[in-house]
Amino acid sequence: MSTVQRARDADRTAELTAALGAARARLARAAESVGRNVNEIELLPITKYFPATDVIILNQLGCLAFGESREQEAADKVASVRAELPEAPIRWHMVGRIQRNKARAVAGWAHTAHSVDSTRLLTALDRAAGEALAAGARPEPLRVYIQISLDGDTARGGVDVDAPDLVDEICGSANTAEALEFAGLMGIPPLEWDPDDAFARLAAERDRVQRDYQHRLELSAGMSGDLESAVKHGSTCVRVGTALMGQRPLTSPAVVTPVTSSSQTPPPPPSAEGSPR
Ligand SMILES: *Cc1c(COP(=O)(O)O)cnc(C)c1O
Repeated sequence: MSTVQRARDADRTAELTAALGAARARLARAAESVGRNVNEIELLPITKYFPATDVIILNQLGCLAFGESREQEAADKVASVRAELPEAPIRWHMVGRIQRNKARAVAGWAHTAHSVDSTRLLTALDRAAGEALAAGARPEPLRVYIQISLDGDTARGGVDVDAPDLVDEICGSANTAEALEFAGLMGIPPLEWDPDDAFARLAAERDRVQRDYQHRLELSAGMSGDLESAVKHGSTCVRVGTALMGQRPLTSPAVVTPVTSSSQTPPPPPSAEGSPR
């Protein structure tokens, strides 16, 4: 390794050490201020757009799970990290939208998927996870969160919170699927909404669904900008990108963009994809 590379790694390690300390302290304060035990809230670093070397640094700082939002980028990163740290017990979470034709790929690397919002996707993931289990390619069922749409704009992902029968049906399917484990509900506040209103609605839906289950349902809620509100409303997993990793670059490392004038244009707003970029 060159001296320059080593110095860069040392800088990034210092940066991530400070940011992780700050994020943990922030989460602890958020929990304490509403009388919750911080140990029941997972801090999930979202490493999309950031290189495998950052994952390795964070793993050495004690992080054991990471979230990604694009299948191809994640698969490449998982392979790089595994080549470097073959023994590390790292669990990868898929937090972005999942296309049905990517179910097999996701089942190959993901421990948990946060963004399941249809019976068709659920069925595809169950089949893919079942095949991966049978082939010894994964050690345990795929944990799934059912994503809830709080404003009914399901084009942005999620099952409409105002369709409780549909929510119940999909949750029931997740719970009985052979190769899946029903973890709980996930939600993202709609643009322009007060996060407090959004997370209160999401928490109420979790409480409603919870009545049908013996095991405690988790709540995947809260990001860099709104984690205090999510913790107040019972989040058990906050998905933190920017506050930990820094600003994301404009393009994903896995997306090779030809250098043309159009590649200067920033990618479409989050609404086009249904999740924060
Ligand atoms: C990118 C992303 C996050 C992290 O967002 P930040 O605001 O950077 O913390 C959380 N959840 C999902 C689904 C994401 O796509």
